[in-house]
Amino acid sequence: AMEFLKPSQTRLMAVANQKGGVGKTTTAVNIASALASHGLSVLLIDMDPQGNASTAMGVNHAEGIPSVYDVLEGRLSLTEVKSKSEHFSHLDVVPASIDLSGAEMELATLANRNALLHAAMHRLLTDSPHAYDYVIVDCAPSLGLLVLNVLCAVREVLIPIQAEYYALEGLGQLLHTIGLVQRNFNPQLLVSTMLITMYDKRTLLSKEVFDEIQRHYKGIVLNTTIPRSVKISEAPSFGQSIITYDPRGAGSVAYGEAAYEMNSRSEDVLRQLNEQAGNE
Ligand code: ADP
Ligand code: MG
Repeated sequence: AMEFLKPSQTRLMAVANQKGGVGKTTTAVNIASALASHGLSVLLIDMDPQGNASTAMGVNHAEGIPSVYDVLEGRLSLTEVKSKSEHFSHLDVVPASIDLSGAEMELATLANRNALLHAAMHRLLTDSPHAYDYVIVDCAPSLGLLVLNVLCAVREVLIPIQAEYYALEGLGQLLHTIGLVQRNFNPQLLVSTMLITMYDKRTLLSKEVFDEIQRHYKGIVLNTTIPRSVKISEAPSFGQSIITYDPRGAGSVAYGEAAYEMNSRSEDVLRQLNEQAGNE
């Protein structure tokens, strides 16, 4: 059986890629669920105004309910707006509502506009330092102020990459932006993980994309790939992750293995992050 050891520090991870439809939300939801199903404590934060991660977790995100929007505006803490997952005892979810879509403009005038989520995260880690093994943040498909807030609040970025012809297009821009954030706002930020999604083992193209990414980002890209699967795309409409919707299916197995591989790299990643901090 796979053993999921608790990381020695909370791993703070953004799931980011400015391209839409590459599997960010699917990955955030299913990695969070896989980790929780193996007994790790996870907080999943939805930072996309579309609220897809909230829907997929079966969490109410109607307009006006307490959400991450209230957290960014400083009215409520992450702890105050989180709700418990119905399916896993170790998984909490902070929903995003459509209210968040206006936030980008409203927050733009604040002096600390980049650091609003960071402040909330800092408070969470100070008030309850051992509450979570992982905080996983699902990002909107942009490189705007909301995503900047996430990149300033986390220490790691997980980039899902769809196995398709245009996979590498846009990745340069994303890594450039992450570099800017590192230099200007958050020196302790690391692209720790890449995950190939919607992999089709029958096509040569999928293998070529995987090989190319392996070549460029060795040690970052997980060896586990996520297959294209109808079950994976159906699960959200039942308010469930693939882990409970189809526990024995290929999608569930793949996300379980990806979570295991990611978790087994914890101490390596945390050491890299601490060295990076020491060099500042
Ligand atoms: P993003 O958050 O990057 O926009 P999503 O996670 O919402 O991407 O995925 C985009 C679409 O592709 C969704 O309809 C989702 O259900 C579907 N999808 C994601 N991963 C898979 C997969 N492995 N197999 C089949 N469909 C998938
Ligand atoms: Mg999404």
